[in-house]
Amino acid sequence: MTALRVDVVIVGGGVAGLWCRWALANAGYSVVLLEHSKFGDGQTVASQGILHRGVKYALSSEAARAAAAAEESARVWDEAMAGTVGPDLSRVEVAAKSMLMWTDAGLLSKLTGAIASKVLTSHVGPANSAEIPSFLERRGRTVYRIGETVVNPVSVLRCLAEASSGPLVRATVRSITPLASRTMVTTDAGEFDAGAAVLCSGAGNAELLRLLGQQPEHWMQRRDLHMVAASGAPGMLFGHWVAAATDKPRLSITSARVDGVVHWYLGGALAESGVNRDVDEQIAAAKSELDMCFPGMSTDAWQFRTVRIARTEGRDAAGKRPDSPVVRSIESLGVIAVWPTKLVMAPAAAEGVLRLVASRLSPSKSTPPSFGPSSRPDYALPPWLSRP
Ligand SMILES: Cc1cc2nc3c(=O)[nH]c(=O)nc-3n(C[C@H](O)[C@H](O)[C@H](O)COP(=O)(O)OP(=O)(O)OC[C@H]3O[C@@H](n4cnc5c(N)ncnc54)[C@H](O)[C@@H]3O)c2cc1C
Repeated sequence: MTALRVDVVIVGGGVAGLWCRWALANAGYSVVLLEHSKFGDGQTVASQGILHRGVKYALSSEAARAAAAAEESARVWDEAMAGTVGPDLSRVEVAAKSMLMWTDAGLLSKLTGAIASKVLTSHVGPANSAEIPSFLERRGRTVYRIGETVVNPVSVLRCLAEASSGPLVRATVRSITPLASRTMVTTDAGEFDAGAAVLCSGAGNAELLRLLGQQPEHWMQRRDLHMVAASGAPGMLFGHWVAAATDKPRLSITSARVDGVVHWYLGGALAESGVNRDVDEQIAAAKSELDMCFPGMSTDAWQFRTVRIARTEGRDAAGKRPDSPVVRSIESLGVIAVWPTKLVMAPAAAEGVLRLVASRLSPSKSTPPSFGPSSRPDYALPPWLSRP
């Protein structure tokens, strides 16, 4: 079989792969994106969809840089969602235009300090009573509104997939072989002779790096989470309950209404500390946290389930938790490996990829090969919605 010649092959159709595809195609590169399962079938559809503007980072004194990076990325999303600059995301479903952040007495000074910082001033203010659901009201509680939009991640994937016209192909990669200045990607759907291969497979980058004879631990790391999905909540809520003892949200809650039933998706410290709990223990811990946060609200009739998923991130030279996207070029193998770190930072990751590709090859401006609609992958469902 003759290999199809393209400028760039992207492996992985989550938010990173699809945003990179748009950026490269927009610059005139012919691009084929390969997805082995469903679009976003990893972290993207499991994410809470919060376009962080750095508020939660700013609670930690070391994280000012992360706050500024998140703010910059969120601005790119604003423009794309307004349909003015970047991929047309004007049809992305906005679940909430802002989030709430609340704390119980002790942390007030820390929050106030963060709010006073330059990055946050325009995005944080006291929530007015109409914005605070009755089940959240509590004596001594301070509730802020933060200008962080929450999006439906599946709608993001749909918009990105439609934002440019290169082929999206369901395929399993069998090998990736560097050949002089090009890279041969062999799959069950054919062979691709590419000027560059961009690995955007999230956790799946481990397997691809192994195919290339690399040790994944050298390039990437995972942080396991044990999220909780609860259905039967009394109303929609998007917010962070900020813990007194740490600078992290004790609970981060996002919501969806499906067939009239309100689902809460619970992350934050609960999901991090719950990694070593089994399902029953994690559900018990979630109920206890909800009880502490919303005294008097009964969860007896709610239905709970848990979702185990890892955040997959790039590893920087110091092996620290990255606060910006990691885009690593493995020159000798002709591949670029990408971990956006956060949904919100996908545009910055795509910009980094475009810079690296442009340093290696000029856009051919040729039309990529076409594939039939039957080869196009479907969209994954959020794990809290799909059947166990
Ligand atoms: C529980 C959770 C909550 C989060 N909440 C937020 C949030 O609120 N805000 C935020 O900004 N970030 C959030 N994040 C982080 C964010 O979701 C991720 O940084 C981002 O989605 C990563 O995108 P990705 O495209 O790199 O990877 P993924 O979304 O994992 O996509 C990888 C894709 O590659 C495909 N793939 C895998 N292996 C192969 C292979 N061998 N060949 C071909 N295709 C392959 C997969 O099927 C998948 O489609 C959250 C993450 C988690 C886990």
